[in-house]
Amino acid sequence: MQVKYLDLPRQFRDNALLNKIRVLFETCQFVLGPEVEAFEANVAKLCQTPFCVGVNSCTDAIFLALKALNIGSGDEVITVPNSFFATAGAIVATGATPVFVDVGEDYNIDAGLIEKAVTDRTKAIVPVHLTGNPADMVRINEIAVKHKLYVIEDAAQAVGASLCGQAVGSFGDVGCFSLHPLKNLNVCGDGGAVTMRSKEIFEKIKLLRNHGLKNRDDVACFGYNSRLDTIQAIVGNHIIEELEKTTLKRIDNAAFYDRELSKLHEWVKVPPRRKDVKQVFHTYVVRVKRISELMKYLSSNGVETKVHYPVPIHLQQPFLALGYKRGMFPNSERQSEEIISLPIHQYLTFEQISFVSESIKSFYQGVDE
Ligand SMILES: *Cc1c(COP(=O)(O)O)cnc(C)c1O
Repeated sequence: MQVKYLDLPRQFRDNALLNKIRVLFETCQFVLGPEVEAFEANVAKLCQTPFCVGVNSCTDAIFLALKALNIGSGDEVITVPNSFFATAGAIVATGATPVFVDVGEDYNIDAGLIEKAVTDRTKAIVPVHLTGNPADMVRINEIAVKHKLYVIEDAAQAVGASLCGQAVGSFGDVGCFSLHPLKNLNVCGDGGAVTMRSKEIFEKIKLLRNHGLKNRDDVACFGYNSRLDTIQAIVGNHIIEELEKTTLKRIDNAAFYDRELSKLHEWVKVPPRRKDVKQVFHTYVVRVKRISELMKYLSSNGVETKVHYPVPIHLQQPFLALGYKRGMFPNSERQSEEIISLPIHQYLTFEQISFVSESIKSFYQGVDE
């Protein structure tokens, strides 16, 4: 039995999608246009926000959000050390300084530690909804109001997730999404989206993503080339039709793992769950004992697993050079050595997912003896 971590070839073997792309080759309107606008409307609806701007990645979504809020050199932005590197990279790209706050048992920012990190230079908080599980947006927003900080949600992993029925991307001043092929709402290349309630921020980011152009010939401000590709908008509009279905499949798969792997609680810790949360399981992360032996065992049995992420951001080369050290964010560091992500994609069959959980059980039975 082979259980791949993802099955993109299966997803993109799709003639209906190819036909939609073929239509674009007749008009050749490759830059912006109605498909991008339709995609923005689709994401705005999903995120319960009045506005959305399509951009070329989540990295640029975060960067443009910070720029639109006039955050840059001399400013501090609070975020987590256990995300994909781009969260911190986008902050650094503006000239601002990322200030890391450790995470809790749910892998998300520990809201109880945020206020200690606030200084008179702090301008924003960038919580990450890691694994597709919403961060504690109620407390984060309370802290933001108290200290007059902006909130930019890194929702790259959490499209479709919600807290008490409210969608991620609608809690902060700006919500940032990724359409990267490995994300839940994926396209065949790079893409991203920004959501917001404020018309002013909407208009600013729309300018920033397209050279500051307010029309074909007139520039209103300095900007960038960060547009969402029209082909990717077509793909996004196609894939978003199935998003709820694939999300529910991921949630079912997670429930199966929860049930089966809870039996191994001495060895395997399943993801924490909260009431009133729709957790979309971009990744199904378990904390395990004997991680490297387990991963080797699973791999030799045909089960592909990943680690998100084995090296915390503050221990990556560019941050080490700035004086960050091991020991500064103990939860993130400990978790990075104990977490693995199991296959959870929408094409897993019952036989495959059972095989994954049975393989994990048989590994720990071997260890017990
Ligand atoms: C993938 C990811 C990003 C970057 O997204 P891109 O679209 O590849 O730029 C940022 N933050 C998190 C948490 C991610 O998972």
